[in-house]
Amino acid sequence: MTASRVSSLSPSANAAGSGKTASPRLLALRRLALVAVVTFGSALLGHLTRPAGFLASFWIANAVLIGLLVRNPRLATPTAWLAIAGGYLAADLSMGGGFLLTLWLTAANLAGVIAGFLLFRRISPVDRRLQRPQSLLFLLLISVAAAVAAAIVGSGSIVVFYGGSLRHAIELYLTSELASNLMILPLALTAPPLQTLRLRVGAIWRSARALLPLATLLASIGIGTLIGGPGAASVPVPALLWCALSYGIFPTALLTFATGLWQSTALATSLPPSSAEFLPTVISHRLSLALLALGPIMVSSINSGRRVLLRELNRAANEDTLTKTLSRRAFLQRSEAALAESAARDGVASLLMLDIDRFKRINDEHGHAAGDTALVAIARQLAAVLRPQDLFGRMGGEEFAILLPEISPDDARGVAERLRAACDQLELTLDDGRTIKVTTSIGLASGKAMQVSLQGLLKQADDALYAAKREGRNRVIEAAPVAA
Ligand code: GH3
Ligand code: MG
Ligand code: MG
Repeated sequence: MTASRVSSLSPSANAAGSGKTASPRLLALRRLALVAVVTFGSALLGHLTRPAGFLASFWIANAVLIGLLVRNPRLATPTAWLAIAGGYLAADLSMGGGFLLTLWLTAANLAGVIAGFLLFRRISPVDRRLQRPQSLLFLLLISVAAAVAAAIVGSGSIVVFYGGSLRHAIELYLTSELASNLMILPLALTAPPLQTLRLRVGAIWRSARALLPLATLLASIGIGTLIGGPGAASVPVPALLWCALSYGIFPTALLTFATGLWQSTALATSLPPSSAEFLPTVISHRLSLALLALGPIMVSSINSGRRVLLRELNRAANEDTLTKTLSRRAFLQRSEAALAESAARDGVASLLMLDIDRFKRINDEHGHAAGDTALVAIARQLAAVLRPQDLFGRMGGEEFAILLPEISPDDARGVAERLRAACDQLELTLDDGRTIKVTTSIGLASGKAMQVSLQGLLKQADDALYAAKREGRNRVIEAAPVAA
């Protein structure tokens, strides 16, 4: 006997056996350690890109932290902000930074991260994951705002410690922060779980066709590098747009990031690092690359949104919302196609019409909601009997139809009997402990696909179903086979 619960179990039923969980204090400590380590690591990485004695040319730490905190807002506790400050200070001091400058830059970094984090909290979760075209506009505005906040606090330190005009310092600070935000944030905001990423990369890797946009991108990066000059940055854009149409948002963000990084590194290696123009040129170039990258990322965002919409539309049109079987429309459409295919091969097919017995009584005795849940359980029970190629649809109310392609009349009879038995064995338990038993009547019609039509089979199976009802229910009645 198969038992099934009609409504959800009470939450307490799941409490047993949940195993050991970390204490809240340990969890909080782990979170603090995580933000401190991420801050320290990404700040250290920035310091490694520092031309001798000057500011880091590629400062990713602020954008990495904004991404981390926006994705995991629970990490952003007051103590976490202290841990972040500690991470910045430790990285800077360990690289031999002066104490006052370090303190000043840490304050600027915190200003940028706090501004970015608070602004991202104000937009919708959909926009935080860059899933709409306008999300990219929010990304740009928040990146600018975070860069402005960091530049307001930090620019003065350049004048005090390295000299030069304040205007020049603000420009340098602003563009450097903005370029980093625009390059890193799309990655940090859209990164999927590692498992999903592995599956997606595996799927691309195994298909030569899926690899084509990537190969084209690599080729165009190579061509751009060979051409050189100020226009080279846009050579990979068409290939990036193709990647955007072929892959998801995160792979596109990753590819635009890698392309930009490669191009700005190529430029940086062609300039003497000691020249006064080195940092402004590299940063201005990187900013133009980051802004250029918004195009492909927006295209992939539009495309991903469209794909999700199409999938939902498809489901709404083809799936019965309650039982998740095929909708009537989809059942009829696919059955026509399956019969035509079967006819082309001179095959056979069988069609079953099922109607739950005395279903009105279930509604009357237990309520409509219990009736709904019973329908879901029945559909699941029936589906378990079927083969993947069988078509199972809800024709309306408590009536279902099943098309069994390529099956002998004997086997079809066996399937029908198993479906009837599966329903008969189902016992649904209500929350109050009462049980519901159901049975179903089935009409079966079979024939050579070339000699029957879907409408003909439906009519025959329906007549047989009525005969099953008349003869006492909970039985299978087979229509007379179609004459050759
Ligand atoms: P029979 O054995 O002759 O088929 O009896 P029956 O009561 O099943 O037949 P009838 O056609 O008189 O009633 C079908 C009932 O199924 C009536 C309707 O309230 C119920 N029903 C149809 N669709 C749904 C649904 O989506 N949810 C629920 N809960 N009930 C439904
Ligand atoms: Mg009925
Ligand atoms: Mg009915």
